[in-house]
Amino acid sequence: MAQGIITKAISGFYYVQNDTGVYQCRGRGLFRKKNIKPLVGDFVEFEADNKEEGYVNQVLERKNELVRPPVANIDQAFLVFSAQEPALSTAMLDRFLVHMEAMDIEAVIVVNKMDLTTIDYLHSYKEEYEAAGYPFHIVSSRDGTGIDQLQKYLNNKLSMVTGESGVGKSTLLNRLLPSLNLETAEVSARLKRGKHTTKHLELIPCNNGFIADTPGFSSLNFEKIDEDDLDICFPELKEIMPDCKFRGCTHRKEPGCAIKEAVEMGNIAEFRYEHYKQFFEELVQQRRY
Ligand code: GDP
Ligand code: ZN
Repeated sequence: MAQGIITKAISGFYYVQNDTGVYQCRGRGLFRKKNIKPLVGDFVEFEADNKEEGYVNQVLERKNELVRPPVANIDQAFLVFSAQEPALSTAMLDRFLVHMEAMDIEAVIVVNKMDLTTIDYLHSYKEEYEAAGYPFHIVSSRDGTGIDQLQKYLNNKLSMVTGESGVGKSTLLNRLLPSLNLETAEVSARLKRGKHTTKHLELIPCNNGFIADTPGFSSLNFEKIDEDDLDICFPELKEIMPDCKFRGCTHRKEPGCAIKEAVEMGNIAEFRYEHYKQFFEELVQQRRY
């Protein structure tokens, strides 16, 4: 049986792509019974006599699943923040990063709108995030500066662009995929409407990978994370926590904590550690109520 990836789902049809082309498929009744709804991004087994009349027979196991937009198996996210309007919030960035780690999505940090600021203040953040293990790119989607460096991340991956409203996600996507022509804030204002949200999500082939044509906004509550697993969502903490004296160390008040020591020595950025403690408290509170 053939395998492929669903790149689009419209009115009961699934468009399944593999090396031999794109096949328009229906789902077998099976899905409705089992209550499995194939998603864009799903790897599936299908059969098709021709490109118009295929059947999806099985959805292969998912690595992850997003609700908004509904998409499965995201490998990588460009986490878009702006340098100004609004200014970069590392608390928000770290929150996004924890979510990405929890969902097993690789993060590429993109700080947009560099044309609005002197980039000096961004360079220390760049160093600190790179030391923590994250690629960090300072770009301008408006004039195109730095966008070329992002192309290389697309290789063999299913990527998406994510971040808060107004940071420039649509502008960036239009830069990465010039044929796309997504509606940006200016276009919506000109047409006097909000950016329309009824568009169908589609995966666009790009540099040997796919990129979702709809920016994602993950809801940012920590519902699925256990406070005891928070440390492994900070790569630089995860790396040295085996050196903590106590097993199950939460890295807050315990003696012999390798992480507290690394923060004091300046080997872990203090603001990252503060965010860890802040999120930890939040998770504890959340579990109580
Ligand atoms: P989205 O809500 O994240 O999709 O953001 P948009 O792409 O609609 O952009 C929001 C606003 O920021 C628009 O007015 C864009 O023109 C502007 N913008 C996007 N990228 C840049 C940039 O690199 N520099 C500047 N100065 N403005 C930008
Ligand atoms: Zn510790």
